Amino acid sequence: MAGFYDKPMILCLIFTISFGLFLSYTSAELQRFLHPAKTDGSLSFLVIGDWGRRGYFNQSEVAFQMGKTAEKLDINFVISTGDNFYDNGLIDENDAAFEESFTKIYTAKSLQKHWYSVLGNHDYRGDAEAQLSPVLRKIDSRWLCLRSFIVNAEVAEIFFVDTTPFVNEYFTDADGHKYDWREITPQKSYVTNLLKDLELALMESTAKWRIVVGHHAIRSVGHHGDTQELVKELLPVLQANDIDFYINGHDHCLEHISDTESRVQFLTSGAGSKAWRGDTTELNREGLNFFYDGQGFMSVQLCLTEAKIDFYDVSGKVLHRLHTSKQLHPSI
Ligand SMILES: [Zn+2]
Repeated sequence: MAGFYDKPMILCLIFTISFGLFLSYTSAELQRFLHPAKTDGSLSFLVIGDWGRRGYFNQSEVAFQMGKTAEKLDINFVISTGDNFYDNGLIDENDAAFEESFTKIYTAKSLQKHWYSVLGNHDYRGDAEAQLSPVLRKIDSRWLCLRSFIVNAEVAEIFFVDTTPFVNEYFTDADGHKYDWREITPQKSYVTNLLKDLELALMESTAKWRIVVGHHAIRSVGHHGDTQELVKELLPVLQANDIDFYINGHDHCLEHISDTESRVQFLTSGAGSKAWRGDTTELNREGLNFFYDGQGFMSVQLCLTEAKIDFYDVSGKVLHRLHTSKQLHPSI
């Protein structure tokens, strides 16, 4: 694993140097990484969310199945949709939970790839900055967690958005929890600036597939339901820029909902460990294609003309597939 992290960092540097002027004109605030697709131009990755529980609540079983699928698909990387470490994030960058819930759990050779991660609300209840620290990358070079950033994976561009600061109740009614808001307050300007950077980056993206990843759902029929702040502030940006998929965790389930007003598909993969909450509502909701209350994960396979997204349960069984295609040269 030594040096594993170095290659994309060097690529990022080359990318940054090569496109320095372009970058400074586009999105100064969102850090960009280049992650090359496969030699045939295709890309595949797994998505997991809400997982870090030292192997308990079927985390290890899900990890085992992820390893098998990752090998079969020869994945490029893994995406974590946040709530990486329960119950309250990491205490600091030396917290043993990092190795006990990550390094020692996702051990398959096929999972020794980059893990691009965002923070969830539970991560903000600990030392949020610890998860962003290069110290963790020295312990396990797979790990890359930032608040908001962009991965250019050639056939797709993936925009990671820090959604916890959008949610007002964490600031006004924390329910006894303490959140690490260093670098976040004042909330309003943090969110406004983030949306501005995202919008600019989306507007200028020319990738065939454009995917936005956040921790909180925009649309969900699970326990937490829709996140109203994201419906109001983030969704219009995604609709206006014609993104393909919004991927999130937070609700401990797997689900696929189609937007009723645009082509955006909402995909929840937040079933990395504790699940079976059993308080689902709105199962007759318009646009709902699939909902599963138990543990599992998701895979995404992309090429220029097709996207194939599969949802797996804890035994590795495919429960639902979204298969969509695009014309190579869309008519104008
Ligand atoms: Zn959450």
